[in-house]
Amino acid sequence: MRLVLVLGDQLSENIAALRQADRAQDLVVMAEVAAETQYVPHHPKKIAFILAAMRKFAARLREDGWQVAYTRLDDPENTGTVPGELLRRASETGATDVVATRPGEWRLIEALETVPLDLEILEDDRFIASHADFDRWAEGRKQLRMENFYREMRRRTGLLMEGDKPAGGKWNFDTENRKPASDDMFLPRPSRFEHDDTVAEVLELVETRFGGNFGQLHPFGLATDAAQAEAVLEQFIHAALPAFGDYQDAMLAGRPFLYHSLMSAYLNVGLLDPLDVCRRVETAWQAGHAPLNAAEGFIRQIIGWREFVRGIYFHEGPCYVERNELGHERDLPALYWGAETGMVCLREAVAQTREEAYAHHIQRLMVTGNFGLVAGIDPAQLHEWYLAVYADAFEWVEAPNTLGMSQFADGGLFASKPYVSSGNYIDRMSDYCGTCRYSVKAKHGDDACPFNLLYWHFLNRHRARFSSNPRIATMYRTWDRMDAQRRQAILHGAENFLKKMDSGAQV
Ligand SMILES: Cc1cc2nc3c(=O)[nH]c(=O)nc-3n(C[C@H](O)[C@H](O)[C@H](O)COP(=O)(O)OP(=O)(O)OC[C@H]3O[C@@H](n4cnc5c(N)ncnc54)[C@H](O)[C@@H]3O)c2cc1C
Ligand code: SF4
Repeated sequence: MRLVLVLGDQLSENIAALRQADRAQDLVVMAEVAAETQYVPHHPKKIAFILAAMRKFAARLREDGWQVAYTRLDDPENTGTVPGELLRRASETGATDVVATRPGEWRLIEALETVPLDLEILEDDRFIASHADFDRWAEGRKQLRMENFYREMRRRTGLLMEGDKPAGGKWNFDTENRKPASDDMFLPRPSRFEHDDTVAEVLELVETRFGGNFGQLHPFGLATDAAQAEAVLEQFIHAALPAFGDYQDAMLAGRPFLYHSLMSAYLNVGLLDPLDVCRRVETAWQAGHAPLNAAEGFIRQIIGWREFVRGIYFHEGPCYVERNELGHERDLPALYWGAETGMVCLREAVAQTREEAYAHHIQRLMVTGNFGLVAGIDPAQLHEWYLAVYADAFEWVEAPNTLGMSQFADGGLFASKPYVSSGNYIDRMSDYCGTCRYSVKAKHGDDACPFNLLYWHFLNRHRARFSSNPRIATMYRTWDRMDAQRRQAILHGAENFLKKMDSGAQV
């Protein structure tokens, strides 16, 4: 008998370790352990989602004839760690061989390697590019750019290809995908699922143990099995995909989901298969149900960005998460944990994060991320925050997005410029600024939008690094053309704002 380890983000019957196992002889080991629920203060919805999905997946495996040794979080014998549970099951059964699928975090990979059993770790082949594929692609390149990698993934999968040419004659339709949304648009309702017995039981457990963590557990309506996740996919293709591209970057107060797919958490734990999802979206485009800019924009996120950031995470190794090339050291302000703020954009992004364990990409990148970067917040603290508060957060995908794309903490390994903006960008893409206590039009003075002040403060303090970057050099020329008094007023306003925020006062 071998032990077959299935982790909480490997909930697919097609996972490598299960494919290699023998259901007549081997024992599947699944465990809810304290170490995984506590390494950052996860949002209660995220914990409930993963535990419920694990329990339902274990039940399905049993129905399919597998033997499963499942450890619940409140099992008095629970050792609290994945290695501990493997050892416990090994001593109960006498098994010495373990087969596992490679975890998505260095932390767990390193922990597994310490287990004194005969361990075979298989490649996680739910991804299109293996680690070796990515390393080969990256080797010798001066710059790692998603766009080049993405084209290779298009060719390899054949998605949206006409022979060896991209469908529609272009690889990327992003320039069509920047429309602001308006409040009177029809928006699809996200799928919500009734609580079955498993979900109800898990919610009770999570309420008791993790009710004090940041985030609202109720109402809970996430999908927790493959059939429900499939319903989310169907609903997305039917109701949201046609407008996905156009409004991909838009933000509206009180409308957290717009035309986004809400599928990241399901893809990341294994309830949906990325390639299958992309093929279904391609079919919808071929059938004339969705325009090419929507299908291409969506598929790029999955076979482009999702694959690419995973490649970066494993290519760079365990120390990637410690990078802080810009030397930012400010503590994460309380407003990220829901403290009152007059900044409507941040208030909205954090409030919906608290309620839904969800924010879409532009909120993460251009609101909470942009603010972290221009305010000089310690990237390690931001990394922990993003890892804790989103239901889809697993280190392989979260860390490169936060530290690389959003915070430039890796020195621009794959971002050609820092994602910083003044309030103008947020104003153009959202309806937030109209009700804000700050004025997005004011460039300095007490009422000036903090992004307007901090944007220049950021460029000014990192002049040596960025002034020769062709993508932002024009901004330095604009700054240099301003009269000295105005520049002084902006920098002074930014310093005052940061001082106030650091003192814990409401900003
Ligand atoms: C600072 C920061 C942190 C992030 N942390 C995470 C995270 O922990 N987990 C996570 O899955 N995504 C993360 N992202 C990427 C992205 O924001 C989310 O995948 C997306 O918002 C999920 O919502 P959705 O499913 O509605 O996505 P949609 O907008 O509908 O996009 C479709 C799918 O594409 C994939 N995708 C889109 N953008 C990215 C990206 N940049 N990287 C990887 N996959 C992408 C996701 O699987 C997503 O489900 C982060 C982005 C930033 C800027
Ligand atoms: S004015 Fe500035 S702080 Fe207020 S919502 Fe707009 S961008 Fe955010």
